[in-house]
Amino acid sequence: MTMTVARDEVQAPQRPTPADRPTVSFELFPPRSEDGANRLVATIAALESARPDFVSVTYGASGRTRQTTRRLVAQILHTTSLTPIAHLTCVDNSRDETVAIIEEFLDEGVRSFLALRGDPPAGATDWQPHPAGLRTSAELVTLLREVEAARCARSQAQAVRGLVKPLSVAVAAFPRGNHATGGTRADDVAALLSKQQAGADFAITQVFWDAPSYLALVGEARAAGVTIPIIPGILPATDPDRLVRVGRLTGVTPPDDLLARLTGYDDPTARHRAGVRVTADLVNAVLDGGAPGIHVYTFNQHRAALDLLDLTHLGGAPAPRTEPKDLV
Ligand code: FAD
Repeated sequence: MTMTVARDEVQAPQRPTPADRPTVSFELFPPRSEDGANRLVATIAALESARPDFVSVTYGASGRTRQTTRRLVAQILHTTSLTPIAHLTCVDNSRDETVAIIEEFLDEGVRSFLALRGDPPAGATDWQPHPAGLRTSAELVTLLREVEAARCARSQAQAVRGLVKPLSVAVAAFPRGNHATGGTRADDVAALLSKQQAGADFAITQVFWDAPSYLALVGEARAAGVTIPIIPGILPATDPDRLVRVGRLTGVTPPDDLLARLTGYDDPTARHRAGVRVTADLVNAVLDGGAPGIHVYTFNQHRAALDLLDLTHLGGAPAPRTEPKDLV
Protein backbone atom coordinates (compact mmCIF):
# COMPACT_ATOMS: atom_id res chain seq x y z
CA MET A 1 0.00 0.00 0.00
CA THR A 2 1.28 3.46 -0.82
CA MET A 3 0.68 6.30 1.55
CA THR A 4 0.13 9.78 0.20
CA VAL A 5 1.80 12.40 2.34
CA ALA A 6 0.49 15.93 2.21
CA ARG A 7 3.03 18.24 0.61
CA ASP A 8 3.10 20.49 3.68
CA GLU A 9 4.16 17.59 5.90
CA VAL A 10 7.33 16.85 3.94
CA GLN A 11 8.44 20.40 3.26
CA ALA A 12 11.35 21.46 5.42
CA PRO A 13 10.73 24.55 7.54
CA GLN A 14 12.12 27.74 5.99
CA ARG A 15 15.10 28.42 8.24
CA PRO A 16 18.23 30.16 7.09
CA THR A 17 21.02 27.65 6.74
CA PRO A 18 24.57 28.62 7.75
CA ALA A 19 25.27 29.13 4.04
CA ASP A 20 22.38 31.59 3.74
CA ARG A 21 23.61 33.71 6.62
CA PRO A 22 24.82 37.07 5.40
CA THR A 23 28.53 37.52 6.02
CA VAL A 24 29.51 39.26 9.22
CA SER A 25 32.90 40.88 9.65
CA PHE A 26 34.54 43.48 11.84
CA GLU A 27 37.17 46.17 11.40
CA LEU A 28 39.80 46.60 14.12
CA PHE A 29 42.72 48.99 14.37
CA PRO A 30 46.12 48.37 15.95
CA PRO A 31 46.23 49.52 19.58
CA ARG A 32 48.35 52.54 20.40
CA SER A 33 49.45 51.47 23.87
CA GLU A 34 50.11 48.35 25.91
CA ASP A 35 46.97 49.05 27.89
CA GLY A 36 45.01 49.30 24.66
CA ALA A 37 46.53 46.04 23.48
CA ASN A 38 45.39 44.29 26.66
CA ARG A 39 41.85 45.61 26.29
CA LEU A 40 41.83 44.59 22.65
CA VAL A 41 42.44 40.97 23.63
CA ALA A 42 39.11 40.99 25.51
CA THR A 43 37.38 42.76 22.62
CA ILE A 44 38.64 40.21 20.11
CA ALA A 45 37.53 37.33 22.34
CA ALA A 46 34.04 38.86 22.58
CA LEU A 47 33.84 39.42 18.82
CA GLU A 48 35.08 35.88 18.20
CA SER A 49 31.94 34.59 19.93
CA ALA A 50 29.90 35.97 16.99
CA ARG A 51 31.90 33.70 14.65
CA PRO A 52 32.56 36.38 12.05
CA ASP A 53 33.66 35.44 8.54
CA PHE A 54 36.73 37.65 8.90
CA VAL A 55 38.15 40.61 10.77
CA SER A 56 40.11 43.33 9.01
CA VAL A 57 42.99 45.28 10.54
CA THR A 58 43.67 48.86 9.41
CA TYR A 59 47.07 49.95 8.16
CA GLY A 60 49.02 53.10 8.69
CA ALA A 61 45.93 55.29 8.94
CA SER A 62 46.50 58.62 10.69
CA GLY A 63 50.22 57.98 10.94
CA ARG A 64 50.03 54.86 13.07
CA THR A 65 52.96 52.51 12.70
CA ARG A 66 52.79 49.63 10.29
CA GLN A 67 54.58 47.22 12.62
CA THR A 68 51.57 47.25 14.94
CA THR A 69 49.29 46.19 12.08
CA ARG A 70 51.57 43.26 11.34
CA ARG A 71 51.71 42.30 15.02
CA LEU A 72 47.93 42.43 15.43
CA VAL A 73 47.31 40.46 12.24
CA ALA A 74 49.82 37.81 13.37
CA GLN A 75 48.26 37.69 16.83
CA ILE A 76 44.79 37.14 15.35
CA LEU A 77 46.12 34.55 12.93
CA HIS A 78 48.05 32.52 15.49
CA THR A 79 46.02 32.88 18.69
CA THR A 80 42.37 32.97 17.57
CA SER A 81 40.00 31.12 15.25
CA LEU A 82 39.47 34.33 13.24
CA THR A 83 40.55 34.98 9.66
CA PRO A 84 42.38 38.30 9.47
CA ILE A 85 42.41 40.56 6.44
CA ALA A 86 45.41 42.88 6.44
CA HIS A 87 44.79 46.38 5.10
CA LEU A 88 47.70 47.51 2.95
CA THR A 89 48.33 50.92 1.38
CA CYS A 90 50.55 52.54 -1.25
CA VAL A 91 51.55 55.41 1.09
CA ASP A 92 55.20 56.33 1.63
CA ASN A 93 56.75 53.18 0.15
CA SER A 94 58.56 52.44 -3.06
CA ARG A 95 57.34 49.52 -5.12
CA ASP A 96 60.25 47.38 -3.83
CA GLU A 97 59.44 48.24 -0.22
CA THR A 98 55.79 47.33 -0.81
CA VAL A 99 56.89 44.00 -2.30
CA ALA A 100 58.94 43.33 0.86
CA ILE A 101 55.95 44.17 3.09
CA ILE A 102 53.69 41.85 1.09
CA GLU A 103 56.31 39.08 1.32
CA GLU A 104 56.46 39.50 5.11
CA PHE A 105 52.67 39.15 5.43
CA LEU A 106 52.68 36.10 3.15
CA ASP A 107 55.57 34.54 5.11
CA GLU A 108 53.48 35.03 8.25
CA GLY A 109 50.67 33.02 6.65
CA VAL A 110 48.33 35.93 5.84
CA ARG A 111 46.20 35.10 2.79
CA SER A 112 43.76 38.00 2.66
CA PHE A 113 44.39 41.68 2.00
CA LEU A 114 42.42 44.89 1.62
CA ALA A 115 44.33 46.86 -1.01
CA LEU A 116 44.04 50.63 -0.61
CA ARG A 117 45.68 53.73 -1.92
CA GLY A 118 45.75 54.99 1.67
CA ASP A 119 45.15 58.22 3.53
CA PRO A 120 47.81 60.93 3.51
CA PRO A 121 50.30 60.62 6.38
CA ALA A 122 49.31 62.49 9.58
CA GLY A 123 49.63 66.25 9.09
CA ALA A 124 49.58 66.10 5.29
CA THR A 125 46.54 67.35 3.42
CA ASP A 126 47.29 65.96 -0.03
CA TRP A 127 48.13 62.45 -0.96
CA GLN A 128 51.33 62.26 -2.97
CA PRO A 129 52.60 59.00 -4.41
CA HIS A 130 56.12 57.91 -3.48
CA PRO A 131 58.34 58.78 -6.51
CA ALA A 132 59.09 55.09 -7.03
CA GLY A 133 55.83 53.83 -5.57
CA LEU A 134 52.32 52.82 -6.55
CA ARG A 135 49.67 55.41 -7.38
CA THR A 136 46.38 53.57 -7.01
CA SER A 137 44.86 50.66 -5.17
CA ALA A 138 44.35 48.90 -8.52
CA GLU A 139 48.16 48.90 -8.95
CA LEU A 140 48.45 47.40 -5.47
CA VAL A 141 45.96 44.65 -6.35
CA THR A 142 48.07 43.86 -9.43
CA LEU A 143 51.24 43.82 -7.34
CA LEU A 144 49.72 41.47 -4.73
CA ARG A 145 48.77 39.06 -7.52
CA GLU A 146 52.24 39.35 -9.10
CA VAL A 147 54.08 38.70 -5.81
CA GLU A 148 51.92 35.64 -5.11
CA ALA A 149 52.41 34.33 -8.68
CA ALA A 150 56.20 34.77 -8.40
CA ARG A 151 56.28 32.87 -5.09
CA CYS A 152 54.22 30.03 -6.59
CA ALA A 153 56.49 29.93 -9.67
CA ARG A 154 59.59 29.77 -7.41
CA SER A 155 58.35 26.90 -5.24
CA GLN A 156 55.94 24.07 -5.90
CA ALA A 157 55.30 23.84 -2.16
CA GLN A 158 54.12 27.48 -2.22
CA ALA A 159 52.04 26.72 -5.31
CA VAL A 160 50.26 23.88 -3.51
CA ARG A 161 49.68 26.09 -0.45
CA GLY A 162 48.32 28.75 -2.77
CA LEU A 163 45.89 26.27 -4.26
CA VAL A 164 44.72 25.13 -0.83
CA LYS A 165 44.44 28.66 0.54
CA PRO A 166 44.07 31.05 -2.41
CA LEU A 167 45.03 34.67 -1.97
CA SER A 168 42.01 36.93 -1.62
CA VAL A 169 42.14 40.65 -2.28
CA ALA A 170 39.46 43.12 -1.23
CA VAL A 171 39.23 46.81 -2.16
CA ALA A 172 37.37 49.90 -0.97
CA ALA A 173 34.18 51.37 -2.44
CA PHE A 174 32.46 54.69 -1.73
CA PRO A 175 28.64 54.92 -1.78
CA ARG A 176 28.70 58.71 -1.94
CA GLY A 177 31.92 59.09 -3.90
CA ASN A 178 35.32 59.47 -2.25
CA HIS A 179 35.33 62.86 -0.55
CA ALA A 180 39.03 62.48 0.31
CA THR A 181 39.86 62.59 -3.40
CA GLY A 182 37.02 64.87 -4.47
CA GLY A 183 35.62 61.98 -6.49
CA THR A 184 31.96 61.46 -7.36
CA ARG A 185 30.15 58.13 -7.25
CA ALA A 186 30.67 57.83 -11.01
CA ASP A 187 34.45 58.23 -10.44
CA ASP A 188 34.28 55.58 -7.78
CA VAL A 189 32.41 53.16 -10.01
CA ALA A 190 35.11 53.63 -12.68
CA ALA A 191 37.81 53.08 -10.03
CA LEU A 192 35.98 50.01 -8.71
CA LEU A 193 35.85 48.53 -12.20
CA SER A 194 39.60 49.05 -12.57
CA LYS A 195 40.17 47.37 -9.17
CA GLN A 196 38.07 44.39 -10.33
CA GLN A 197 39.99 44.23 -13.63
CA ALA A 198 43.25 44.20 -11.63
CA GLY A 199 42.05 41.12 -9.74
CA ALA A 200 40.03 42.30 -6.72
CA ASP A 201 37.69 39.67 -5.29
CA PHE A 202 35.26 41.83 -3.34
CA ALA A 203 34.76 45.35 -2.02
CA ILE A 204 33.97 46.89 1.35
CA THR A 205 32.31 50.29 1.45
CA GLN A 206 33.06 53.46 3.30
CA VAL A 207 30.59 54.38 6.04
CA PHE A 208 27.23 55.79 4.80
CA TRP A 209 24.01 56.80 6.52
CA ASP A 210 21.28 55.97 4.03
CA ALA A 211 20.54 52.67 2.31
CA PRO A 212 19.72 54.30 -1.08
CA SER A 213 23.35 55.52 -1.39
CA TYR A 214 24.67 51.98 -1.01
CA LEU A 215 22.00 50.50 -3.28
CA ALA A 216 22.64 53.16 -5.94
CA LEU A 217 26.38 52.41 -5.84
CA VAL A 218 25.70 48.70 -6.32
CA GLY A 219 23.21 49.40 -9.13
CA GLU A 220 25.59 51.75 -10.97
CA ALA A 221 28.52 49.40 -10.43
CA ARG A 222 26.56 46.44 -11.85
CA ALA A 223 25.51 48.52 -14.87
CA ALA A 224 29.19 49.36 -15.45
CA GLY A 225 30.22 45.69 -15.36
CA VAL A 226 31.34 45.33 -11.73
CA THR A 227 30.36 41.83 -10.64
CA ILE A 228 32.30 41.38 -7.38
CA PRO A 229 30.38 41.42 -4.07
CA ILE A 230 30.16 44.84 -2.43
CA ILE A 231 29.89 44.57 1.36
CA PRO A 232 28.40 47.61 3.12
CA GLY A 233 30.60 49.08 5.86
CA ILE A 234 28.45 49.84 8.90
CA LEU A 235 29.31 52.16 11.78
CA PRO A 236 27.07 51.60 14.83
CA ALA A 237 25.50 55.02 15.50
CA THR A 238 25.84 54.90 19.27
CA ASP A 239 28.28 57.74 19.94
CA PRO A 240 27.44 61.13 18.37
CA ASP A 241 30.97 62.47 18.96
CA ARG A 242 32.44 59.54 17.04
CA LEU A 243 29.99 60.07 14.18
CA VAL A 244 31.17 63.67 13.90
CA ARG A 245 34.87 62.66 14.04
CA VAL A 246 34.35 60.00 11.37
CA GLY A 247 32.46 62.57 9.31
CA ARG A 248 35.46 64.93 9.46
CA LEU A 249 37.86 62.13 8.52
CA THR A 250 35.85 60.65 5.67
CA GLY A 251 33.73 63.58 4.47
CA VAL A 252 30.62 61.49 5.14
CA THR A 253 28.67 63.83 7.41
CA PRO A 254 26.13 62.19 9.72
CA PRO A 255 22.57 63.50 9.18
CA ASP A 256 21.57 66.36 11.50
CA ASP A 257 18.40 64.59 12.64
CA LEU A 258 20.40 61.51 13.66
CA LEU A 259 22.85 63.63 15.67
CA ALA A 260 20.00 65.58 17.26
CA ARG A 261 18.24 62.37 18.22
CA LEU A 262 21.35 60.82 19.77
CA THR A 263 22.44 63.93 21.66
CA GLY A 264 18.88 64.29 22.99
CA TYR A 265 19.38 61.36 25.37
CA ASP A 266 20.77 62.05 28.87
CA ASP A 267 20.84 58.35 29.67
CA PRO A 268 23.78 56.66 27.87
CA THR A 269 22.02 53.30 27.91
CA ALA A 270 18.95 54.74 26.20
CA ARG A 271 21.19 56.49 23.66
CA HIS A 272 23.07 53.26 22.99
CA ARG A 273 19.80 51.38 22.44
CA ALA A 274 18.45 54.05 20.11
CA GLY A 275 21.71 54.14 18.15
CA VAL A 276 21.77 50.37 17.72
CA ARG A 277 18.10 50.47 16.61
CA VAL A 278 18.81 53.11 13.95
CA THR A 279 21.81 51.12 12.73
CA ALA A 280 19.77 47.90 12.67
CA ASP A 281 17.21 49.62 10.42
CA LEU A 282 20.02 50.57 8.03
CA VAL A 283 21.41 47.02 8.10
CA ASN A 284 17.98 45.51 7.43
CA ALA A 285 17.42 47.90 4.53
CA VAL A 286 20.71 47.04 2.80
CA LEU A 287 20.28 43.30 3.41
CA ASP A 288 16.72 43.49 2.03
CA GLY A 289 18.23 45.29 -0.97
CA GLY A 290 20.58 42.36 -1.62
CA ALA A 291 23.76 43.18 0.35
CA PRO A 292 25.83 40.02 0.85
CA GLY A 293 26.61 40.84 4.49
CA ILE A 294 27.89 43.62 6.70
CA HIS A 295 31.33 44.83 7.76
CA VAL A 296 31.09 46.55 11.14
CA TYR A 297 33.44 49.39 12.05
CA THR A 298 33.96 48.45 15.70
CA PHE A 299 36.49 51.07 16.81
CA ASN A 300 37.88 48.24 18.90
CA GLN A 301 34.70 47.99 20.97
CA HIS A 302 32.48 44.98 20.90
CA ARG A 303 29.26 45.93 22.67
CA ALA A 304 27.56 47.95 19.92
CA ALA A 305 28.71 45.49 17.25
CA LEU A 306 27.32 42.48 19.09
CA ASP A 307 24.10 44.24 20.08
CA LEU A 308 23.64 45.14 16.40
CA LEU A 309 24.08 41.51 15.34
CA ASP A 310 21.64 40.47 18.03
CA LEU A 311 18.97 42.93 16.88
CA THR A 312 19.37 42.00 13.22
CA HIS A 313 19.49 38.25 13.98
CA LEU A 314 22.94 37.96 12.46
CA GLY A 315 24.37 35.86 15.22
CA GLY A 316 25.21 38.27 18.01
CA ALA A 317 26.20 36.96 21.39
CA PRO A 318 25.64 38.55 24.79
CA ALA A 319 28.33 41.11 25.42
CA PRO A 320 30.33 40.94 28.66
CA ARG A 321 29.12 43.38 31.29
CA THR A 322 32.17 45.61 31.17
CA GLU A 323 32.97 47.39 27.96
CA PRO A 324 36.65 48.19 27.45
CA LYS A 325 37.06 51.94 27.13
CA ASP A 326 38.17 53.57 23.89
CA LEU A 327 41.75 52.73 23.05
CA VAL A 328 43.90 55.78 23.59
P1 FAD B 1 42.16 54.31 -5.28
O1 FAD B 1 41.42 53.12 -5.74
O2 FAD B 1 43.58 54.38 -5.65
O3 FAD B 1 41.40 55.57 -5.82
C1 FAD B 1 41.75 56.88 -5.44
C2 FAD B 1 40.97 57.84 -6.29
O4 FAD B 1 41.55 57.87 -7.57
C3 FAD B 1 39.52 57.45 -6.51
O5 FAD B 1 38.66 57.97 -5.52
C4 FAD B 1 39.22 58.03 -7.85
O6 FAD B 1 38.85 59.39 -7.71
C5 FAD B 1 40.55 57.94 -8.55
N1 FAD B 1 40.64 56.76 -9.43
C6 FAD B 1 41.39 55.64 -9.22
N2 FAD B 1 41.24 54.78 -10.24
C7 FAD B 1 40.40 55.37 -11.12
C8 FAD B 1 39.85 54.99 -12.39
N3 FAD B 1 40.18 53.85 -12.99
N4 FAD B 1 38.97 55.85 -12.99
C9 FAD B 1 38.63 57.02 -12.42
N5 FAD B 1 39.13 57.43 -11.24
C10 FAD B 1 40.00 56.63 -10.59
N6 FAD B 1 43.22 54.32 4.55
C11 FAD B 1 44.39 54.00 5.19
O7 FAD B 1 45.36 54.78 5.13
N7 FAD B 1 44.50 52.84 5.93
C12 FAD B 1 43.49 51.96 6.03
O8 FAD B 1 43.60 50.92 6.70
C13 FAD B 1 42.24 52.25 5.36
N8 FAD B 1 41.20 51.37 5.39
C14 FAD B 1 40.06 51.64 4.66
C15 FAD B 1 39.04 50.68 4.63
C16 FAD B 1 37.88 50.91 3.89
C17 FAD B 1 36.79 49.87 3.85
C18 FAD B 1 37.74 52.14 3.16
C19 FAD B 1 36.49 52.41 2.39
C20 FAD B 1 38.74 53.09 3.20
C21 FAD B 1 39.93 52.85 3.93
N9 FAD B 1 40.99 53.77 3.94
C22 FAD B 1 42.16 53.47 4.62
C23 FAD B 1 40.88 55.07 3.25
C24 FAD B 1 41.39 55.03 1.79
O9 FAD B 1 42.75 54.71 1.74
C25 FAD B 1 41.15 56.41 1.25
O10 FAD B 1 39.78 56.65 1.17
C26 FAD B 1 41.77 56.74 -0.10
O11 FAD B 1 41.48 58.11 -0.35
C27 FAD B 1 41.20 55.98 -1.32
O12 FAD B 1 41.54 54.70 -1.32
P2 FAD B 1 41.24 53.74 -2.59
O13 FAD B 1 41.84 52.45 -2.21
O14 FAD B 1 39.84 53.76 -2.97
O15 FAD B 1 42.08 54.50 -3.69
